[in-house]
Amino acid sequence: MLIKTGIPSPEEIVKVKPGQSRLAKGPVAMVECFQRIPCNPCATSCPAGAIEPFKNINDLPKLNTEKCTGCSACVSSCPGLAIFIIDETYSDKEAVVKMPYEYRPLPEVKSVVEVTNRAGKVVGTGVVIQVVNNKKQDKTAVVSVAVPKELSMEARSIQIRKESTPENTFICRCEEISLQEVREAIAKGYTDFNELKRKLRVGMGPCQGLTCRQLVLTELSMATGQLVEEINLTTFRPPTKPIKISVVAGDGNEK
Ligand code: SF4
Ligand code: SF4
Repeated sequence: MLIKTGIPSPEEIVKVKPGQSRLAKGPVAMVECFQRIPCNPCATSCPAGAIEPFKNINDLPKLNTEKCTGCSACVSSCPGLAIFIIDETYSDKEAVVKMPYEYRPLPEVKSVVEVTNRAGKVVGTGVVIQVVNNKKQDKTAVVSVAVPKELSMEARSIQIRKESTPENTFICRCEEISLQEVREAIAKGYTDFNELKRKLRVGMGPCQGLTCRQLVLTELSMATGQLVEEINLTTFRPPTKPIKISVVAGDGNEK
């Protein structure tokens, strides 16, 4: 399921879900990284040593939830946008999910936003309580959203409600392709993912389609009447981040 759609299965999610007793203690990371790729900023950025140092650069992250302080340093460092902080102690009825956010504009604090699940489907609403723009450090912004507690394991992104137009909505953040450009290309007859990839470069940036693929497929499905599963997919590769050759040859730590 992950390879075809980019969406992890419920079984994969269960494997990385922090235990209830840890969730009851306060904010903790949930590392939704399931593919062995040469990438380790999560481990090298963790000030608490909660993510074990990688023996091999292709290792999957191993999180010690008892050591994790929920600081979110790993969230802004992860190029795969795969880490979230869950705080189920925020209030009686609400949890806070801290999520990586690469769209622009950033949401405003106190704004009400649509909350979406891992498949991009709106599952409810939330309130933005903090926005940390890490642009100066060349890292991903982190948005904290208060959501109904039952959505703490579902809410993984947001959609800003106001003033969203096809022109200012970016489908592919890596290549900065707007919804308008995708719709215009489909209207001109580019009606499969590969054609759109060649024309617009969607899915060819560092995230390799992790974010845009599902959105483009949804647009194609709406325009052509085909089911998403029936649309031919392009080759899917994991997210990439340039690393020094010494990291591959050495001890796996990127310094
Ligand atoms: S939230 Fe902070 S302490 Fe927890 S794994 Fe991430 S960087 Fe480490
Ligand atoms: S994609 Fe994120 S979680 Fe996975 S190894 Fe890279 S930094 Fe760690």
